[in-house]
Amino acid sequence: MSNRTTRGILDRLKKGVVQGAEGYVFELERRGYIKAGPYVPEVVLDFPEAVKELHREFLRAGSEVMVALTYYAHREKLKDVGRENDLEFMNRQAVRLANEVAREGDALVAGNICNTWAYDPHNAKESSRVVRAMYEEQLGWAVEEGIDFVISETNDFLGEALIALEVIKQLKLPAMVTLASVQHDQTRDGYDYVEACKILADHGADIVGLNCDRGPETMLPIIEKIRSVISCYVAAQPVPYKTNAQFPTFESLRTGSGEQAFPLLLEPFLCNRFEMAEFARKAQAIGVNYIGICCGGAPHYVRAMAEALGRTVPASKYSPVMELHPVLGARVEEKHKEFLADWKS
Ligand SMILES: [Zn+2]
Repeated sequence: MSNRTTRGILDRLKKGVVQGAEGYVFELERRGYIKAGPYVPEVVLDFPEAVKELHREFLRAGSEVMVALTYYAHREKLKDVGRENDLEFMNRQAVRLANEVAREGDALVAGNICNTWAYDPHNAKESSRVVRAMYEEQLGWAVEEGIDFVISETNDFLGEALIALEVIKQLKLPAMVTLASVQHDQTRDGYDYVEACKILADHGADIVGLNCDRGPETMLPIIEKIRSVISCYVAAQPVPYKTNAQFPTFESLRTGSGEQAFPLLLEPFLCNRFEMAEFARKAQAIGVNYIGICCGGAPHYVRAMAEALGRTVPASKYSPVMELHPVLGARVEEKHKEFLADWKS
């Protein structure tokens, strides 16, 4: 556990918004420590200091949760890169690294499981057994190493999310279960996102919502609907990309020449820090309880979001003071203010 005196996730949520930060895999790929394609977090074993550094950067920027980097550290994916034998060590080490950095601040540690690519709704009985075994194995190790709660995320299938929820509840830990939203309005097994969240809440999830796939503009409207019908806590962790009605997910974005931008040509679509700050403000205003960021996330966004939520975080010491720039000075500040005013209107 991160710190014996730290309040748990549910106590924190009772008091107000909890800020999270993710996107470890994307960011560590950009930094040269993870291979795009398989996206297996081998960095946990090969360059543990790189993982700790990113945890630390998110912590300094305001994240209250260190999410153990076990995304895709499951049996199916490790088989793909021939590291199945490292499975247990990779999972344990990821939780240890998250704990080490969480103790440097006042952060919680979340165990992390995700879509497995093994779930098949047409063969639900058989595939559920495989998925459940993967989750039990990963979370068993995580619990032994010490976690405060579990984030089950980027769930494409409600059926798979429900298995995750059951396993988390068996371990008697708070459960945050969030859905991927690649499709227009429903999970791959045909449940409207809002309905799927309601079912998860009815089955005992403590926090439900969406993560990944959608940028602020296309995630917020769905989150608002979820918030309006759900009584438990709601989470929103968008990607910092400019998705819109025509291209609602970052997988659907196209470059000028019509190529799919995901996952390696996405830079032109990045939001700026003010847009992510505005997302945090809007999410808070509609009653979202857990506000974070997913793939594409980086510390400058996390800090801007924290400050938008009225917080001063360790990295705020170096927040921009453009008035002090010898040439740009107040002109740039004014420009940013205008930008924000436009964006809000
Ligand atoms: Zn993501």
